[in-house]
Amino acid sequence: MTINLPPELPSPGRGGYFGDFGGAFIPEMLHETFAELRATFDSARRDETFWQSYVDVTTSYGGRPTPVTYCDNLSRTFGGARIYVKREDLNHTGAHKANNVMGQGLLVQRMGKRRVIAETGAGQHGVATATMAARLGLDCTIYMGEVDVARQHPNVFWMRQLGAEVVSVTDGTRTLKDAMNACLRDWADSMADTHYVMGTVCGPHPFPQLVTYFQSIIGQEARAQMLAVAGQLPSRVYACVGGGSNASGIFTGFLDDPETELVGVEAGGKGVETGEHAARLAGGQGSPGVAQGYKTVFLQNEEGLMRHTHSVAAGLDYIGIGPMLADLHQRGRVRFESATDAEVVEALRLTMRKEGIIPALESAHAFVAAFREAPTLADTSAILVNQSGRGDKDIFTVADALDDEDWKDFIGQTAARYAR
Ligand SMILES: *Cc1c(COP(=O)(O)O)cnc(C)c1O
Repeated sequence: MTINLPPELPSPGRGGYFGDFGGAFIPEMLHETFAELRATFDSARRDETFWQSYVDVTTSYGGRPTPVTYCDNLSRTFGGARIYVKREDLNHTGAHKANNVMGQGLLVQRMGKRRVIAETGAGQHGVATATMAARLGLDCTIYMGEVDVARQHPNVFWMRQLGAEVVSVTDGTRTLKDAMNACLRDWADSMADTHYVMGTVCGPHPFPQLVTYFQSIIGQEARAQMLAVAGQLPSRVYACVGGGSNASGIFTGFLDDPETELVGVEAGGKGVETGEHAARLAGGQGSPGVAQGYKTVFLQNEEGLMRHTHSVAAGLDYIGIGPMLADLHQRGRVRFESATDAEVVEALRLTMRKEGIIPALESAHAFVAAFREAPTLADTSAILVNQSGRGDKDIFTVADALDDEDWKDFIGQTAARYAR
């Protein structure tokens, strides 16, 4: 399929604001490196050959375009709208994160830098970044909280095999936000030759805009594929929302189609009423604030202290949300729903059994909302679910959630084999 230059994407106004949200709240010492990044991105997106080189690398290396799959068995199970799935799980490294990371790699080459750094929680963004760095010949350091290094060891193994240095951060709670602080300290010392690879549509301007730009390839493909495969535009598009990059990517393909409703699905965790969740917009519990270099809707208490969040899906377990999505929500263009951990495990089980597709726990949130709503729609309509990633990576969490006895035996025996 031919991929054109991205259509007119919502672009931030003065100071990097989408409506009330966004901006760049950065320390003085980072001003210069942000100015360089803005200038490089602005020239790149006006240069058709840059977009073409991005399409080339995501095609020849990343596996694009990813298909849209019609799910007949699931459609029959629920009745109502026909269910289609955009298969971002088929990207190299198994998720949409690869798109953004390869795009930023091309910007790094354009800036003439030789090193990349990133922080990672569950490790998916770290693995994608390490892969890009290996391919483009860049040095790579990944910051990860000590607790996450222990919890997510398979990803640590792969990052190191790919040649990245993984720094285990022992400050504070030894999780993602401490890793982020360590990463920013590195950047303050190294920005002359180092680029900080942002994993989602959050953080200071221009990151929300540039990550949306790269991920917009999802929506551009999906719109053309729905017209070709389903013969119509979807009446609804569903995407899970952590920071919001896969949702921003697919939604931007349909923003100018008033007949297509856009639905973002957040982590309902143990239930929005329990406080153990990461639903910033769906639950109405988020409020505007400034943190981590940008203004958006955060889950915070009255004093502006960030609340504890929870989700079975590590990628959705985050306090903020992309400023463009916060604005689209405020303007009524994107509706937000939530899905609980229990609903997610059920949707995952059903999707595996009915279609032989294994969604990531994150993506399964989008399936929950689609399954809930499909029966209420006419059988002449089509809906589209963005499957942001594949679930194989979640084997430890999923096997736990399904309480699988065989798996526990296997882990027990493996542990015994290594016991000294
Ligand atoms: C990281 C991740 C997410 C959440 O990130 P967004 O920026 O909200 O897209 C969702 N799905 C998968 C598979 C991920 O790896």
